[in-house]
Amino acid sequence: MPVIAIVGGQWGDEGKGKVVDLLAQKAGVVIRFSGGDNAGHTVVNPYGIFKMHLIPSGIFSPYTVCIIGNGVVINPPVLIDEIDELNQHDVDTTRLFISDRAHLIMPYHLLLDGLEEESRGGKALGTTRKGVGPAFTDKAARLGIRSGDLLDKEVLLERLRFILDYKNDILTKIYGISPLSLDDIYRQYCQYGERLAPYIRETAIMLEEALNQDELVLLEGAQGALLDPDFGTYPYTTSSSPLAGGGCLGAGLGPTRINRILGVFKAYCTRVGSGPMPTELKDETGDLIRERGQEYGTTTGRPRRCGWFDAVAARFSNRINGFTGVAVTRLDILDNLTRLKICIAYELDGHTIDYFPANLNALDRCQPIYEELPGWQAPTTNIRQYEQLPVEARQYLTRLEELIYCPINLICVGPDREQTIMKTPIV
Ligand code: GDP
Repeated sequence: MPVIAIVGGQWGDEGKGKVVDLLAQKAGVVIRFSGGDNAGHTVVNPYGIFKMHLIPSGIFSPYTVCIIGNGVVINPPVLIDEIDELNQHDVDTTRLFISDRAHLIMPYHLLLDGLEEESRGGKALGTTRKGVGPAFTDKAARLGIRSGDLLDKEVLLERLRFILDYKNDILTKIYGISPLSLDDIYRQYCQYGERLAPYIRETAIMLEEALNQDELVLLEGAQGALLDPDFGTYPYTTSSSPLAGGGCLGAGLGPTRINRILGVFKAYCTRVGSGPMPTELKDETGDLIRERGQEYGTTTGRPRRCGWFDAVAARFSNRINGFTGVAVTRLDILDNLTRLKICIAYELDGHTIDYFPANLNALDRCQPIYEELPGWQAPTTNIRQYEQLPVEARQYLTRLEELIYCPINLICVGPDREQTIMKTPIV
């Protein structure tokens, strides 16, 4: 059985949660490998509607082991609430495990996320202010506290004392606010530790065992390729890699182990937060897509910026991920449109280019060059066979395959698990 990385091909919110929930039915292990509770993966299945922020979307599959990998940063109270909510809906969480190497979001991360955003003024990044960026900063600065530290109260106290002195200096001297109390944070995190201890493990071994037993393993990405800190619209990016390559690091397995990489794309584009988006529609069509697609952030409720499918960005995403297949979600949102556009190249300062510029000023100046296709103007939500899709919808999908340089494996025509068309098998 293969290892499949399931990653966002655009700016996040592509519907990875739905795809993972679907494929998890056959999986031995699902492991979330990046981000934090800034992600919000919506899953609609027989248990109900869930917004998963930290727990892998495979948790609904009764035999699947779900792991929060070392590449995720965890805010303990958020995770505890998520576990409680699942349990209230009779979802079993005894198969959930947390890597002892996953870093923790601490109260000063939450404070600093807000303070740093405010100090950026008009250049704010539009973060979710959930402390995710500051926690990854501390990971790189060797100032992090990891979930495994919760299992040893002496280690936790020593580490927290050292780090909090430094953080309190920043809070008081730079931002002029009151220091945080060591005692309060220590006591609080000891309680979290007691609650989370049964879940915390050395998880790389669990993965290896699953691979040795030839089980299907899914690596669940968060956010999307265009938010990658190296390749995305830096600095308007996220702080951990959402790419398939990030899956190796954030789950704890070598690159040779990944067999398939499924890029998840919406049939159009959306983006939350600041930063360039060449195909953004600030007109009635953009509003129409937003309202029909209910394009408001799962985590923040912010309206998403909507636009036509950007094939230049999608090809770039394929280049840096190496997709073996693509999942196209939300095709149904386009059902009513008379004409559709796909951006096939950019015009930059009088030249036609077909790459995604690193320079944000250049990307901002890029004007999309569109190809127009007819809409299908028929409902697709009840269709389950590719051949039954209207000819114009198939034409649109075929064009996407040609432009992304990658075959489409599956198409989603609604949020429910069964509203899926398997075009070519993945497993
Ligand atoms: P994720 O973070 O990539 O999992 O994406 P989000 O959960 O933020 O956003 C995707 C939304 O689209 C969720 O509300 C899904 O239930 C929903 N969804 C997924 N696939 C489809 C689809 O094909 N059609 C429709 N209408 N909704 C979908």
